[in-house]
Amino acid sequence: MTCRNYERLLSLARDLSALKSIANLLGWDQQTYMPPKGVEGRSGQRAVLARVIHERVVSEEFGALLEELDGSAELATLGPEAAANVRELRRERDREVRVPAALVDELERTAGLAHQHWVDARNDGDFAGFAPWLEKLVRLTREWAEAVAYEEEPYDALVDVYEAGLRVRQIEPLFRALRSELVPLVEAIAASPRQPDPSILQRPYDAGRLHQFSRRVAEELGFDFTAGRIDLAIHPFCSGVMPRDVRLTTSFQESNPIDSLFSVVHEVGHGLYHQGYLPEHFGTPMAVAPSLGVHESQSRWWENFIARSAPFWERFYGDFRAMFPQALGDVSAGEFVRAVNLVRPSLIRVEADEVTYNLHVLLRFELERALFQGQCAVADLPAAWNEKMEKYLGIRPANDVEGVLQDVHWSHGMFGYFPTYTFGNLYAAQLNAAIRRDLPDLDGFVSAGRFAPLLEWMREKVHRRGSLYPPAELIRRVSGEAVSTRPLVDYLRGKFSALYDL
Ligand code: ZN
Repeated sequence: MTCRNYERLLSLARDLSALKSIANLLGWDQQTYMPPKGVEGRSGQRAVLARVIHERVVSEEFGALLEELDGSAELATLGPEAAANVRELRRERDREVRVPAALVDELERTAGLAHQHWVDARNDGDFAGFAPWLEKLVRLTREWAEAVAYEEEPYDALVDVYEAGLRVRQIEPLFRALRSELVPLVEAIAASPRQPDPSILQRPYDAGRLHQFSRRVAEELGFDFTAGRIDLAIHPFCSGVMPRDVRLTTSFQESNPIDSLFSVVHEVGHGLYHQGYLPEHFGTPMAVAPSLGVHESQSRWWENFIARSAPFWERFYGDFRAMFPQALGDVSAGEFVRAVNLVRPSLIRVEADEVTYNLHVLLRFELERALFQGQCAVADLPAAWNEKMEKYLGIRPANDVEGVLQDVHWSHGMFGYFPTYTFGNLYAAQLNAAIRRDLPDLDGFVSAGRFAPLLEWMREKVHRRGSLYPPAELIRRVSGEAVSTRPLVDYLRGKFSALYDL
């Protein structure tokens, strides 16, 4: 049966979704093809759009429809997908109406300036130049959290933006357990006499050929190039402009050429998710991932669990070596797989390997939480950062550029974002255990280049469900267990014990 209120709500939701997709397209263009002098005009366009979107979200009609539908007998007759759409739209609107417009404005303005000061501070290696801006952002963000409301601590309200329903009281024990498992694993790996030779990845690789190879891998994994494209940008990202218009970007670094291949696979993981929503849901929350962590589970799974596995290179290594005979002529598939799985404590998060990566995230979570609990002052951040690096990874930044100034997130006023990276890894490991139960010969499929059954499984269990369930609920239903560290720890131990003869 249909319901006029619900039909009207969906039509408003689709308009909102169209406006957001226009904003995404402008953002993608800015980072790929826009000439540098377009930046001011573009900022103006984006600000107008953001205002129009905000006005529509807080509009009375939108609010009244949600109010009438939420918990109504009418909605109950429409089924779980309609209920999920109402739940998610309401979640978005409630947050938006609670924060005073003046605070939103001030936060945006401050973040714009703070970002510029962060860029300068990073160039000059001078944390003190950024500190007052960070202080102001923390203060305003705390006000924002108070306006949105939370049950236990302000940081909960920040995490909830990215990972619906997740609370510090759940994150804290999971991260503590992860730390106690990963720190000794990293040490054991470092002590192994069987170390890979990472220099084979730094030999000259032709960027054009690498790009060509990446596109072929993307296609074989199932990325639909008639519903998406890959372009060059400074930073790799995936923008799901619309479900059938997915823009991926890749970058190429002379110093670390092979990384561009894995970053394409990572973005393809995001892209496959966008391409996997059901057409009847386009423009509604049922065609949106329930959280950043769930989105990241897809990119991490394809990148790490699949593309960095031995079966994957059984499929591709012959062709890959034939494309780069000078670099790889004397390198076996086994040596190559070991090199792309090098584990080594490093200072920069975005360059970290699969095992140490999570320790970078834990450190940031602990510091952010302490900032918002008032247990750490901004001025004390650099020292606290360096201490934790030493404790978790055994290395110490020589300066703040390699330390507290490295990530862009805080300069945009994005606090509570980092945990989603590790939740992506936790979810990926739980999905990995589940898909292997359903497809016991998964490795055989991968080594034969038969990726369609893998993608179909993800489509059915994750992509097509959109925001039907909140993130933790989705993972529990698909994997049969609550979110835990066990599957990730087991996976990392198993994989790296084999690679490093532990
Ligand atoms: Zn990602």
